[in-house]
Amino acid sequence: MALKRPTDLNEKDKNVFSLMDDKLLFTKILGLRAPWFIQQVVVDGQAQRVDIYVGHEPDIRVRCPVCDELYGLYDHAPERVYRHLNTCQMQTYIHVRPPRVNCPTHGVKQIGSEFGENGSELSFGFERFVIRVAQECSIEATARLCGLSWDQSWNILERAVDRGRARKPHRVPSRMGVDEKSIARGHKYESLVYDLDAGTVEFVWDDRGQQSLETYYRQFSREELSGIQAVAMDMWDPFIAATKKYVPDAQKKIVFDRFHVMRHVLDAVDQIRKSEHRQLSEAGESPLKGTKYLWLWSQENVPAWRQEEFAALKARDLKVCRAWAIKENLRHLWSYRYQAHMRNYFKRWYFWATHSRLKPIKKAAQTLKVHIDNIVTYAKHRITNALGEAINAKIEKVKRMACGFRNRAHYRTAIYFHCGGLDLFPKPPTLPTLCFKTASSQYVGGTH
Ligand SMILES: [Zn+2]
Repeated sequence: MALKRPTDLNEKDKNVFSLMDDKLLFTKILGLRAPWFIQQVVVDGQAQRVDIYVGHEPDIRVRCPVCDELYGLYDHAPERVYRHLNTCQMQTYIHVRPPRVNCPTHGVKQIGSEFGENGSELSFGFERFVIRVAQECSIEATARLCGLSWDQSWNILERAVDRGRARKPHRVPSRMGVDEKSIARGHKYESLVYDLDAGTVEFVWDDRGQQSLETYYRQFSREELSGIQAVAMDMWDPFIAATKKYVPDAQKKIVFDRFHVMRHVLDAVDQIRKSEHRQLSEAGESPLKGTKYLWLWSQENVPAWRQEEFAALKARDLKVCRAWAIKENLRHLWSYRYQAHMRNYFKRWYFWATHSRLKPIKKAAQTLKVHIDNIVTYAKHRITNALGEAINAKIEKVKRMACGFRNRAHYRTAIYFHCGGLDLFPKPPTLPTLCFKTASSQYVGGTH
């Protein structure tokens, strides 16, 4: 069929033809409404780029971004260029000179932009797209896929986090966790505050000190802090001190994290295995070669194909075997539902551990005894930092993408971005920023 020329079109085809007009096409795509209109569209095939110039009708009223009142047009700010979502394969830019208003109360103000945030080089649509990509990909991949520089991509993440944190309701978690993560070799730590119920990271800082956790608590009044029902944490003095200083009744609310508690005993088991393995190796051949995890895994997690080997090892008279039995028995402590029962069980276990003639086990048992008051609080609150399992999985994912972070501020930004439960997306102003005069001399309109 031969192509129709515009002059050949009948009434029915006019709607189709109108879409072939570049200004109308982009007016539809951008969702522009009067008094905004497209002045010009420049398509540069060589540069693979589309530039859209947006203007407005002359007779308008302009909304003050502070008080939302409408006044006459004062003047225009210099042209702003926003990168928008691509038009097919072509990078697309919106050019606009934002009107300014002279509000009698607030002075000369630029309108809240309807195209992209003031101060941003990206349109709302494009910035939202980049944020969605960054939620799925590493920062390098985001930069590559969106045609942005590494710095631009970080800038978008940082702005998203700032936006999200500013919008976040001021609220202290009812059940919170304080945890630390090593972020790189060389014992660098980040400490984190979790909301265990929401599964979010509330606060990140880059040491394990008392001051930093106090900074978190200081955001809240004493009344708000009394809303904290329970805090899961490691047996780490600076965290304990900060919590006791700020959280009313902290003594009853701190629960030493079960997995951290077990970690002390697991470390003792491992030390005993190592030294016994060394002794046996010196005397001849050691049966403990390659058995590290057999002793550290919980019994039910020993893989089927190693169970026979493990049973044979346990039948021998080994120190590590006794240490293992003491470790496995401690796990029952958390099955009790009452603090008094937990204490009784611990007493018996402690007697066994301290009479085992296994020095590292004895030492671990003594550490636990010092902290037993806040180990047994588990019976009441039944929380561990593993309640934040979903958070931990996400943090591990963030760590795997860590090669692109270059510094710790970026790491913290990434944690808030992926794990903060924040509303990250930019939003246009809720009210139309411009109104225009109709034939009946009434001001109406705007883009919404
Ligand atoms: Zn005003």
